[in-house]
Amino acid sequence: MILRQPDPTELWFLPLGGCGEIGMNLNLFGHNGQWLMVDCGITFERTAQGEQRIEMPATAAAEHLLDDLCGMIATHAHEDHIGALHHLKPALKAPIYTTPFTAGVIREKFRQATVQPTLHEVTSYTSKTIGPFTVTWLPITHSTPETHALLIETPAGNLLHTADWKMDLMPVVGKPFDPKLFTHSHLPQIDAAIVDSTNALQPGFSKSEGDVKKGLAAAIKQAEGRVFIGCFASNIARIKMLGDIASSNNRHLALAGRSLLRMTQIARRCGYLTDDFPEIPLSDLAYLPNAYSTLIATGSQGEVGSALYRLSRNQHPQLAVTPGDRIILSAKTIPGNETAVASMIRGFIAQGAEVIAADQHPSLDLHASGHPNAGELEQLYRLMCPRIAVPVHGESRHMAANASIAKQAGVNRCLSGSNGDLFVLSEPSMIKRNWLSTGRVVVDQ
Ligand SMILES: [Zn+2]
Ligand SMILES: [Zn+2]
Repeated sequence: MILRQPDPTELWFLPLGGCGEIGMNLNLFGHNGQWLMVDCGITFERTAQGEQRIEMPATAAAEHLLDDLCGMIATHAHEDHIGALHHLKPALKAPIYTTPFTAGVIREKFRQATVQPTLHEVTSYTSKTIGPFTVTWLPITHSTPETHALLIETPAGNLLHTADWKMDLMPVVGKPFDPKLFTHSHLPQIDAAIVDSTNALQPGFSKSEGDVKKGLAAAIKQAEGRVFIGCFASNIARIKMLGDIASSNNRHLALAGRSLLRMTQIARRCGYLTDDFPEIPLSDLAYLPNAYSTLIATGSQGEVGSALYRLSRNQHPQLAVTPGDRIILSAKTIPGNETAVASMIRGFIAQGAEVIAADQHPSLDLHASGHPNAGELEQLYRLMCPRIAVPVHGESRHMAANASIAKQAGVNRCLSGSNGDLFVLSEPSMIKRNWLSTGRVVVDQ
């Protein structure tokens, strides 16, 4: 069936992924016969047999709409936002717009691809005309550098897409959250705000990366032996603070895991890690006294084959855990990975190490989420005063919580739907349920 295209008086939002689920975000905005894609991510799915596979949103039903794609925007470098860009059909020739750090991560993904994307690098506050859309990049704080919210203006209405965000006043890398940028007096009238719902069920405010720096500093200072820290490779602020903490405790720092090496290389090129980052080669770490050694490693989710996984099983080719070592898991356990993480922790304890996991010790401030709690959502709605709130980036319970916060904050209308629903954001605003058939395709086993 050939679907109708939006006319010059209409502004549409069509999520193909990430609406009603956490992961594989793919948002399409339509106006005047053209479409703008915001993010194109993957999700990790565990099969009934316990194997993990990578999936992305199915785009087959949207194929003829995507013939009229004028551009793609990557809001930040997380896999649930950019992980599927190189799996999109090469026929999608629209240029990708993003900031230098995210562009660096995207280039790595396309390294082995035969067709290379056209990448346009932008910086904070840039405004660009992309087809019938005028897009302005507004810096916002999150758990990876250069995350940007998008102001999308059209003659049929204006949108603000928050991307993933939190109000971090001490972010360690990048500038603190600037409420002025999101205040209604600073913005044109926002007809619809498309808003991250991940932590809408958590009351109050999220912790800052600045709090985590204090928490990790205390946990590392108390350690007598070697310290191994597991964290997400894309959290450059966390890696930078670990460098600072290691230096001030006279410890050397090594990195283990391919994604960490890749991410830190891009962070160095973009100036987020400088020459004072106290990194030494992993092969040198074994020759240092334990009290002078720190290691950041991938595998905080217990992923098979990761550096932490191999260390927990005494299978790492360059390093072994010794009694008295301290393992700090500076990450939350993503639902579904509990068994793998518990088994990894048991492996460390069996080798005589002590394990401190952020999940088990929330008061130690060993990890902060990159998403807004209820208090932050309410503040954002009160600052921005959008006409319509559209919760995304969450399961239905997270999106329902986000919608009720919007209502409390005085937003009159909330459109809550899921992947494949067509959100008409111009008046008369409405949702056309199941407008397009959606689904997932497996991209890697
Ligand atoms: Zn996300
Ligand atoms: Zn994110």
